[in-house]
Amino acid sequence: MDHFALKDGVMHAEDVPLPRIADEVGTPVYVYSRATLERHARVFREALDGVPDKLIAFAVKANPNLAVLKVLQRQGYGADCVSIGEVRRALAAGMAPEMIVFSGVGKTRAELSNGLKLGIGQFNIESEEEGVELAEVAESMGMTADCALRINPDVDAGTHDKISTGKADNKFGVPIDQAGQIFGKLAHSPGVNMRGVAVHIGSQLADIAPLERAFEKLGELVTSLRGAGHNITHVDLGGGLGVPYRKDEELPPPADYGAMVARVTKDWGVKLIFEPGRVIAGNAGVLLTRVVRVKRGLNNPFVIVDAAMNDLARPALYGAYHHFEAVEPGNAQMTANIVGPICETGDTFAMGRTCDELASGELAVFRTAGAYGATMASSYNSRGFVAEVLVDGDKFAVVADRIDAGAIMDAERVPDWLA
Ligand SMILES: *Cc1c(COP(=O)(O)O)cnc(C)c1O
Repeated sequence: MDHFALKDGVMHAEDVPLPRIADEVGTPVYVYSRATLERHARVFREALDGVPDKLIAFAVKANPNLAVLKVLQRQGYGADCVSIGEVRRALAAGMAPEMIVFSGVGKTRAELSNGLKLGIGQFNIESEEEGVELAEVAESMGMTADCALRINPDVDAGTHDKISTGKADNKFGVPIDQAGQIFGKLAHSPGVNMRGVAVHIGSQLADIAPLERAFEKLGELVTSLRGAGHNITHVDLGGGLGVPYRKDEELPPPADYGAMVARVTKDWGVKLIFEPGRVIAGNAGVLLTRVVRVKRGLNNPFVIVDAAMNDLARPALYGAYHHFEAVEPGNAQMTANIVGPICETGDTFAMGRTCDELASGELAVFRTAGAYGATMASSYNSRGFVAEVLVDGDKFAVVADRIDAGAIMDAERVPDWLA
């Protein structure tokens, strides 16, 4: 459920009509709803009521906007970060360092030492090599890093290949059949406290069965690690729950996920960590755009909007579907190709899509753009970075300024020897 709906024929975010935001901030612009973020955070937390000891760490990469992080911090969320930049954002949003998990397959030595200095709660290490390096860094600083070893459980998440992370040939984690041996080696290194294991098999999962298989494998691993004398106190179950992108799509509700987790993990006796991203932020945001013009096409007309693949990359990257609708729909529908202005055929949001009839100058939204939206933006075609707005009831604030192409050019220089 979200708080983007028509009121008197005009789409609102909570109580703010979207045309007001377009007038004041311009388009394209991401619009997030605080009430929706809070609702999703609450529903996810309540789904895990059956889990006594837990940390919910929002996957910052899904939506790193400071104001969004602040909303979630106030809901008691920590953060799952995959770069030191994300760690700094989580801290800036007021998240306690001990509620921050540092994941990522390529953390640099500088990131590891900065993470230690900042007091990060847990490092999820993704290889023996990283573990050895972290142990060295920590020892040289006279510190001990609390660590979980990320396991690749060799489970097919059944999602898009580019966001699947738990198959044997993916780059993430260590193979489950080598986990015991690697864990044992690292556990002997001063500098690291090997206290747990972690898993994350992919994103936009439409089915919780692969998660259950992965968690069961992890449970067996915990038993065997304990059998080998290791003290396992933390298990990180990652993120991955999918959200509906289409109007008629049914996805497993967080309550089913929570019940499955409670059942599978009931005898583990550990603190569980969760890393939800998309399920919290996805439907809490839309990308508001204006139609530049409608161009005749061979089969269907092209609705050319002022948003493009640099603002919302998912359709170009994964062929992802985003529901597209008019902000002030009439009764008529059209079948159109919805495209951005960028000089790539990939800059196509949808082909042959049936949608509200739209004309030049009218506003429309791409729904479910709150996760993996603005965060993936680039400045391709010198288009600058899109602005972001957070709505709260009948008020709104710009929570990220538009960075125009000129500001980006200001960071560039022609060297003297070329001038
Ligand atoms: C991306 C990612 C997540 C979040 O995934 P969602 O599908 O957005 O829930 C969680 N953990 C790790 C390690 C990730 O890389």
